[in-house]
Formats: sequence, structure tokens, C-alpha cells
Amino acid sequence: MENSKINWTDHTWNPWIGCRHVSAECDHCYADTMVTNRMGRDFSVVQRTKTWKEPFKWNRTAPQLAAQLGRRVRVFCASLTDFFIQDADEWRDEAWEVIRQCSDMDWLILTKRPQLISRRLPADWGEGWPHVWLGTTCGVRSSYSRLDALRSIPARVRFISAEPLLESLADIDLTGFHWLIAGGESGSGFRAMKEEWAVELRDICKKAWVGYHFKQHSAFRPGHDAQLCGRRYHEPPLVQIAQPAEKARCGQMKTVPLHLRQANELVAKWHRHHKPIKVAKFSIGAIDENGELVGAAICMRPATQALDDGKTVEVCRLVTKDEDRVRNSSVCSFLYGACARIASEMGYERIQTYILDEEPGMSLRGAGWKQEKTGCGGTPRRTRRGKDVRHLADTISLETKQRWAKILDPKAVKARKPGWDAADIVQDGHGIYLRLRY
Ligand code: SF4
Repeated sequence: MENSKINWTDHTWNPWIGCRHVSAECDHCYADTMVTNRMGRDFSVVQRTKTWKEPFKWNRTAPQLAAQLGRRVRVFCASLTDFFIQDADEWRDEAWEVIRQCSDMDWLILTKRPQLISRRLPADWGEGWPHVWLGTTCGVRSSYSRLDALRSIPARVRFISAEPLLESLADIDLTGFHWLIAGGESGSGFRAMKEEWAVELRDICKKAWVGYHFKQHSAFRPGHDAQLCGRRYHEPPLVQIAQPAEKARCGQMKTVPLHLRQANELVAKWHRHHKPIKVAKFSIGAIDENGELVGAAICMRPATQALDDGKTVEVCRLVTKDEDRVRNSSVCSFLYGACARIASEMGYERIQTYILDEEPGMSLRGAGWKQEKTGCGGTPRRTRRGKDVRHLADTISLETKQRWAKILDPKAVKARKPGWDAADIVQDGHGIYLRLRY
């Protein structure tokens, strides 16, 4: 069961409570009101709570709740204090240990003190634990320096809470961020938020490929499911999963996401004997130094049932524009490498493809793939209506092909796998982004 009324999380966990005001956003701090008035405690004294076992309970039931929600379960840490406040230094390592062990949930740590983060991360933080998102509050322009502080911290997901939104943030720089929550103030004496400020942020997020979540309008008791311009905005974060200039041998090529329709069009244009793919995991293109599309690849679930284990993805189409053999081979190699990297980011453990028996497989070898066997074997996967996927997808029998594969190092959290779907791979000038559904 969810235990939070906040519409961007499922649970809230406070390993300690108490805090001190640090900026204009804190003026009507609800935590202060709650701790002082309802609990009768001194809010300025940070005290350890007795709730340390709760996350373990939630973690045990997280897979079931995730299945109901259609995304991974989220824990907001902490709502009645600041996770990085110095007064809690003696307990934080223990809190990190709880977070580490409860990895079936995503942990959303929101702070107004991002300048304190770097010295308070666990020793093995590295590029950021995959199930921890770091966020900071920015509801006024004078808090922009917090964004700079958080940008410099490695994290899988970085987010901004523009709540309470107290003025226009028209010149906000979202570089390095993946998600933004906007909302007006609530409670007695709330400060009004103009709707245009929230709309402005929505449009900036759209332009910058940052997921946008509109939480609430300003009101004494705002509803749980607020709309902006007649629509509910509960977008998930967008996370960059590939650099534009891949560090592959072909340094002059870039990966771009393609819609399946576009990819199918290129396949039809360059390799006419293939049928269009109806359902794919992702499709990408290769762009050369002149910005011209020179290749495309489509990945889907393996067409052979026995290999469709949920851990494998198959490059089912890979086409190139060029006639020149050497260049052609380097584009193929580049695309195989890019597909493997994206699949790895999505949590897959293995990637495979089939090539014609007479093809030498140089580009696959160049991208680190290995030949497994000739002929596909096994029963083809069937669609819900019982049609053979392999027959629908290909006009060439797989019996005449070699199977090549590469074992991947899955980057995503294992529990994330069942729900990953890259239908929402999007692009900006800086790289490919994958919309996190979990
Ligand atoms: S940092 Fe957060 S918890 Fe602390 S006073 Fe400000 S609003 Fe309240």
C-alpha cells in the first residue's frame, strides 16, 4: 500500500526529523508546522526517529505494488527534515545502508543543501547508485546556485522541485537535470503561484527534454490530481543514455533515436526484401559528420521463443545507405556497438542478431560480438493471435543465417527489467534519452 499523499511518491521516510530554515521556500515550511504544532517538538533540534524498519517492509512488497502502478515504487526521503543537514551526520551512513538494501524501490532524496552532498555520499557511490535520485528545491531565482551544486554530483537521476513556485523561473538552466516537479504552496497563508509560471516551466522542460510533473496549484487544500491547462502532467524523468559522439572507432558518427516508422521507412528504402517491424524495443540511426543519416537499426524481442528469456534483445534490422564496402562495414560496426550499449543501459544481459551465411561478420566482430551457431533452431515466438513473429518479420528463412551475440553488462537495476520499454527514446542535440517508466 502507498503511504504518501504526495502524488510524485508512494512512501515517505524520515530517518530523523527537524531542520532549520535556509531560504524563501522554507518560509511556510509544512514540516515545521507539523513537528512544532502536531508533535509538540522543537523543530530546530534534529532527532532520530523510530521508523527505520519501515523501508524493509515496503521493499518486500515493492514488486507487487510496482506491477499495479506500472512503474517502480518510489520513496521520498525525507519530508520532515533535510537528508544532508549536518546535525544528522552520525546517522547518515546507517541510513545509506537501509537505502542500499532496499534496492527494489527508487529513492528520491530532496535537499535544500546540495552543497553538503559531496562529502556525505557513501564510499562506493561512483557514478551514483542506480536506484537513487538526487533532487534540490528551486522555487525562486536566488536558489539557482543549488542547481549548479547538484549538477556537479554524479547521479543516475537529478531532479528539481520547483515548489513552492514563488516567481517566474523563465531563465532556469536545466542542463544536467532529468526531471522537474512544479507546484504552488498549500496551507494557511499560502503564497499564490501564477499558472503562467508553471506553464513556462512545462515549456522549458519540453524543449530541454526534461520530464515534467505538475503537482498542484497554490491553495489552502489543493487537490491530489491537479491539472494544468486541462491536462495532467505526471511525466517520468528523462535520462541520457548515450553521448552524441560515441567513443567508438567511428568518431565521426552520432547515434540518433528514430521512431519505428522512420526506421521502417529506411529499411524499406535500403533493403527492400524486409517486412516492416510492428513492435520494437528501440530503433536508432547513425548520422555522419555531415548530419546525413547513413544507417538504421531496429531491436526487438528475440523472434525465437527459446531465446526470448526477457534478458535478451535482438537486432532484427540493420541497414546502411552506403554502397562503399569499407564505409558500410564501419557504419554497421558503429550501429551494433550503439545497440549493445543502449541494451545494456536498459538492463538486458545479452544482445543477438542473425546475418546471412555467406557474410563474413567483420562488423560484428569489430563491435565485440561472437558467432554462436548457424541456423536459428527452436520454435518461433508467436503473436497474441498465434501468428509466427519470424514469418511476419522476415522473408528470408533464418535457417540460412548465422547467429551472433554479445554478452552485456546490464547497467540498469535488475528489478527494473520487466517494465523497461524504450518506445520513448528521444533525442536532443546532446544525446539519446530514455524515458524511465520505473
Ligand atoms: S529545508 Fe525543508 S524541512 Fe528544512 S526548513 Fe526548509 S523546507 Fe523545512
